[in-house]
Amino acid sequence: MHQHPRKYNWPEGKTCAFVFSVDVDAQSPLMWDNRGKKVVGLGELEQRRFGPRQGLHRLTDLLAEFSARGSFYVPGIVADTYPEILPFLIERGHETGLHGYYHERVDQLTPQENAEVLDRSIATYKKHTGQHPLGYRSPAWELTPELVGLLVERAISYDSSLMGYDHPYTIAGLSEVPVQWVLDDAIYFKFSGGGKDPWHPASPEAVFNRWVEEFEGQREFGGLFMLTCHPWISGRAQRIRLLRRLMRHISRYDDVWWATAAEIAAHHATLDNGDKFNVGADLVDTDF
Ligand SMILES: [Zn+2]
Repeated sequence: MHQHPRKYNWPEGKTCAFVFSVDVDAQSPLMWDNRGKKVVGLGELEQRRFGPRQGLHRLTDLLAEFSARGSFYVPGIVADTYPEILPFLIERGHETGLHGYYHERVDQLTPQENAEVLDRSIATYKKHTGQHPLGYRSPAWELTPELVGLLVERAISYDSSLMGYDHPYTIAGLSEVPVQWVLDDAIYFKFSGGGKDPWHPASPEAVFNRWVEEFEGQREFGGLFMLTCHPWISGRAQRIRLLRRLMRHISRYDDVWWATAAEIAAHHATLDNGDKFNVGADLVDTDF
């Protein structure tokens, strides 16, 4: 008989956790999609540059209003293009981590290429921070079994890209601090024009209701509310106001653990093996 999963063990007195995570993509996905070509239009480039210029600062100011710290994942090319970003975030007390070099799709690369990208990302991170990175978030939330092994080999403490549980778990020896699409700003608000995105951006009111409903659900089931924002998307005025309303709502409860993903991974590492929700990283045949 299949066993009903137990509840996740949060620190004493907490029933669920809240992480404010930020993927500082800027123009990196546009560069990856157009690799080997010259980007000739300024439109999407400028829209994405809004992220490092304005959006990032609005998000860190918002976090400061709540004395909260975020987990910021920065692609290597963004850290090299804007070398002030990683030191700025660290000085403000935020967590920073890896997010590819060119925001590569890891399932489009060979294991050897993934190893090279990871080593380049780690070297870039060290150059700007003087530290070894703790956390990894894969671009576009894709991962391969080989890459899980590469992260473990390089002493990366955790990944935050998968959705196999909605609380932390362990996949092939790597701590996973999971994400979910419903809590990603891009699926509601990303709009690049030129017919790329077929729907107009969602109303902040509708998204507020969905996020509050998910938050209340995570309190009920004892899970992780992992919000993911992008400065070029959520740095826009109406979305900052939406995020402020959401954080006000969450701050009304004292049984919610406001933490960085690294703090959650550190907590997960202290649990007994039987409480880690261990799974393998096997692929399945397409004809299963
Ligand atoms: Zn990204």
